[in-house]
Amino acid sequence: MVPVKKNEVYKTEIVGMTHQGQGVGRIENFTIFIDGPIKQEEVEIKIIKVNKNYAVGKLLNIIKASPGRVEPLCEVYNKCGGCSLQHMSYQAALNFKTDMVTENIRRIGKLNEVVVHDTIGMENPFNYRNKAQYPVGKSKGEVVAGFYAKKSHDIVDCAECLIQHSLSDKVKLIVKGFLEKHKITIYDEATGKGLVRHIMTRMGFNTGEVMVVLVINGKNIPHQDKLVKMLTQEMPQIKSIVLNVNTAKTNIILGNKNIIVFGEGRITDYIGKFKFNISPLSFFQVNPVQTEVLYKKVLEYAGLTGEETVFDLYCGIGTISLFLSESAKRVYGVEVVEEAIRDAKENAKLNDIDNVEFIVGEAERIIPDMYKKGVKADVVVVDPPRKGCDEVLLDTLVSMAPDRIVYVSCNPATLARDLGFLAERGFEVLEVQPVDMFPWSSHVECVVKIYRN
Ligand code: SAH
Repeated sequence: MVPVKKNEVYKTEIVGMTHQGQGVGRIENFTIFIDGPIKQEEVEIKIIKVNKNYAVGKLLNIIKASPGRVEPLCEVYNKCGGCSLQHMSYQAALNFKTDMVTENIRRIGKLNEVVVHDTIGMENPFNYRNKAQYPVGKSKGEVVAGFYAKKSHDIVDCAECLIQHSLSDKVKLIVKGFLEKHKITIYDEATGKGLVRHIMTRMGFNTGEVMVVLVINGKNIPHQDKLVKMLTQEMPQIKSIVLNVNTAKTNIILGNKNIIVFGEGRITDYIGKFKFNISPLSFFQVNPVQTEVLYKKVLEYAGLTGEETVFDLYCGIGTISLFLSESAKRVYGVEVVEEAIRDAKENAKLNDIDNVEFIVGEAERIIPDMYKKGVKADVVVVDPPRKGCDEVLLDTLVSMAPDRIVYVSCNPATLARDLGFLAERGFEVLEVQPVDMFPWSSHVECVVKIYRN
């Protein structure tokens, strides 16, 4: 029997939190998910949805607040879908992430002894993003650009976003002014008509260079010269302006075609001492400060002496490969996206690194092939997407038996599953270090040190 009824009001204690940061309440052992409350709080809720196995409640009132509760700094926090933990102090948000990782490692990985360190946070957890993608729309006749609201495509505009770099907000303001002044049409998702879809900015935190990309449903923009003049006169940091053509009726933000209207169509930035070219479509970690923290951990856990052959699997544009190359004999980077491998090769050249080789293909195909041909790694780094590593790959690693594996993960659940797998087959999981790459979101990245028994 379901013990709650829709539209009724109940009191409950928050006994846990979901990975997305929702509070979990229980009424007669029945699970209720509620946006807003923090673990251990006592709250009053109204049931808004009832399913067979769980219900959803709306937070009405906090009867007993958690000591970690704070007033959100952002004025649009309750509407905007960008952040989900601003009702917690930064320390409470970091603790939430550590707890989430620990819980997964224990429950899914069955690794009860493994040390999970406290999440490494940022000294200043604001304005950390080097890339913004503002959807553009119209509201009450005015141009708006910002984040999508929670679970919708309504746009929440706000002059200053706490997680974006202030220069991104400045670009947005100038472009909005330009669109208003010249009455440029705005793309309408429902009809597929109208020109301007997204304003994207990318910047090099270490070089100060800024790139502006306007995503348009067409091949040119009226008054292009005026747009370039407005942007570059007000912001000398802008090194490149690009029109990205996306005429498809899709949720995917960027199209494949770029038209350079100012500069060279790319900017550069550094991670540590390594230099990278960034173009509109290329992947680059969005929090450069924490990326360096993460990569240093990878290097530490890899324990390289200069003699090792290293595999960097799921290598993206090869940033980890380059980071490791100095301390290794040879590094092989494997990645499935062809353009990323092209960028990786270019990045190696740009940094005069010649002991790294990049291979395009699925790690679970390439690595078994290489192993059959006798190429073995002493140390393997994996950094898979959310679904984790393919079992064929893990099996091959078990046979290959490298001395060490460093697992970088953006999903604690699949991480825990894969660690459990390796722990049952001759590897010892030594320590897990969560790193806060995306402050105020519920995401957490982990680096794990794994040695062969
Ligand atoms: N290590 C990189 C990026 C990791 S993101 C960095 O630190 O920047 C995960 C990467 O895995 C993505 O680039 C994605 O394209 C790639 N990928 C996804 N499935 C893959 C597979 N089966 N084999 C190899 N690479 C894959």
